[in-house]
Order: sequence, then structure tokens, then C-alpha cells
Amino acid sequence: MVVGRFAPSPTGPLHFGSLVAAVASYCDAKSQGGQWLLRIEDVDTTRRVDGAGADIIHTLQHYGFVWDGEIVYQSERSEHYEQALTQLRKQALAYPCTCSRKEIADSSTQVGIEGAIYPGTCLHHPVKANTPAAWRLKTTAINLGFKDRILGWQQHAMAADIGDFVIKRADGLFSYQLAVVVDDALQGVTQVVRGADLLQSTTRQIHLQQCLGYLTPDYAHIPLVLNAQGQKLSKQTLATALPLDNLKDTLTQAFNFLPYLPKPVPRFSSLPALWQWAMTHWQLSPAAHPL
Ligand code: GLU
Ligand code: ZN
Repeated sequence: MVVGRFAPSPTGPLHFGSLVAAVASYCDAKSQGGQWLLRIEDVDTTRRVDGAGADIIHTLQHYGFVWDGEIVYQSERSEHYEQALTQLRKQALAYPCTCSRKEIADSSTQVGIEGAIYPGTCLHHPVKANTPAAWRLKTTAINLGFKDRILGWQQHAMAADIGDFVIKRADGLFSYQLAVVVDDALQGVTQVVRGADLLQSTTRQIHLQQCLGYLTPDYAHIPLVLNAQGQKLSKQTLATALPLDNLKDTLTQAFNFLPYLPKPVPRFSSLPALWQWAMTHWQLSPAAHPL
């Protein structure tokens, strides 16, 4: 059984880039007779915008997406994340860290894909008293790789490229990496189709899956929609909200953007006919399982 998902963060309304990601994961799951789940990734409650979740759901409905099962909200799933952390602590794979950003910057001697590598200070020294602690996951000097269905083989040297990374923040919020791994596993997701901006997160997620004894889904990272300045569409780059009229035209534009549908996309008289065409023509080769 194929299970895909779309997992927007409710930081603002859906824009054309998020529509493209939703369409790709939807066509991929549904064209294989699979399920498509909707998960609102509001784990970072400090970034959540009031009403954005409801707005996203309404927009998806309007464009004709039909999800399976109940919508899952990360803000209601702390107990699952806490359980995963407990399991990692019991295996001595996670440890508390009270270092400040500045201390890490000053003590780090290695630069990884996202800046300073955490030098493991709190693994070797007692943590500071009366200081809120973050939790970090240990990484080892292994190379971890996977075969992306679109981009092919990807790998990181976990210690040198990533380093021990935060899975629970000092303010008590669980990290995106932990939440997404726990949810994908507990929801039985078998294939993840998402924007290429998340490609660099995938080895961390597979590392977590291996530590927690979860299966690894197949991954496909689709090209990002860029604006005229070459920036990814996002709230920060002031991407406009999806229109709630001209649905067919906007959806056709999304289909035209995705290389996994024939071009040009024909004109149709109704939204369901347009969706039907996409489902029968979608082609993204199912990769051999990566691990
Ligand atoms: N919530 C993430 C975002 O909106 C997507 C997470 C994922 O697809 O793994 O960027
Ligand atoms: Zn530390």
C-alpha cells in the first residue's frame, strides 16, 4: 500500500510553490491507488500564524484535493515525540546540551552543510546547572546515503557534514526533524514527495529512523518554484497567496511546472477532468527501495 502525504507549516497561506508540492505528492500517491494524508506541521508554535492552518485546508479543498483519514496536527502529538526522545535517551543516543549559540560558534572547529558543527562539548562535560537544556542526537563518522527517486544518490558524512543535531530545543519544542520522522513512521508513510529545499534534511531523518527502528520511506525531491529574483517562493519572499478563483488555470500552471506530466497540459472543461488527466499521465518512476 502506497501512503503519501502533504505536510505544510501553517506560517501563512498556500502559494504557488506549495501548490506544486501538494500536487506532486497527491498525483504520486493517488496515481498508484495509494492514500494521501494531510498533516499540519505546527510543531514550532512560535512560528504558527493564527488561522493559517484553516486557510490552507480550505484552499486545498477548493482546488479539489481529497485527503484520506483525519488531518493530523503536530501540536497535538507531543506525547509521541516525547516517547521517541525517551527511547533515544535509553539507548544513550541523545544527550542534553546547554551551550549557547555563541559558545558553539566560538568552540566549533569544523564547518558542515549548515554552518558550525557542534563540537560535542556537553557530551564530554557536565551541563550547566539551572540552564534549560536542548537535546541532541549523536551522529557517528558513517556515510549515510539514499537514492532519491529524482536526484539519484545522495549522501552525507554524518559527523563531518551534520554533527550532533538538536531534536528538542531548549525552549521545550521538538525539532522539525524529530517530529517529521515520528509522524511519517506512525502514519505509515511509504513515499515522501516534497520540495528540494528539504533534500539536505533527509539524511538526518534517515539517521533518526535507523536509531528509532523505523522503516525508511522512498524520497523524491521536486524542483523548487523560484521567483523572478531566483528566490524560493515563501512567506519571507512575499509570495502571493493562491487565488480562490481561476482554479483550473492555476492548477494547469502547476501541472505545466512539473516535469512528470506531459506538455503542454490540455485544456479541460472542468476541474475534475483536469485532475483525472493528471492521475492517468503522472510519471515519476518508483525507485528501488534505497536501503
Ligand atoms: N513542513 C515542512 C514545510 O512546510 C515540510 C516537511 C516535509 O515535507 O517533510 O516546509
Ligand atoms: Zn552543549
